[in-house]
Amino acid sequence: MDPASGDELCDRCHLKRGSCHILAIVNGEKSKRNLCPDCLAIESPSLAALTNGAPCEYCGGPASSGSIDTLGNLVGEQHLVYRCYPCTIEMSDFVQKAMKALPTDVTHETMTENFRRLRKTVNEHMREWVRLRRLGSN
Ligand SMILES: [Zn+2]
Ligand SMILES: [Zn+2]
Repeated sequence: MDPASGDELCDRCHLKRGSCHILAIVNGEKSKRNLCPDCLAIESPSLAALTNGAPCEYCGGPASSGSIDTLGNLVGEQHLVYRCYPCTIEMSDFVQKAMKALPTDVTHETMTENFRRLRKTVNEHMREWVRLRRLGSN
């Protein structure tokens, strides 16, 4: 079998094709799972229902995953966000680099304020990135 064909088996039942790629980002760690639609529905019914047809928040394409917004989490706002795979990768790379550049010897309030600002920067970066990606594909 061609390993690049995307015919990976479901991580849970190992019988069907894992056509649903779930990318969860927890504490900056990416964990990717391939599940078949059945197992996806069993493991996370709300996620499956919500991801089904949900658009990527940045480019509007079909979302491949729903995950907790890492930066939102840091400023005390927990909510699920939907993103397509390329946007997820781009964003988490950008966030990781930006986080490293943040000063750590500051008060909790300053830190939260920095995260808030970073979130804005990330959104601006993603909008620009999506725009450039669209131009590139034409
Ligand atoms: Zn399965
Ligand atoms: Zn996208």
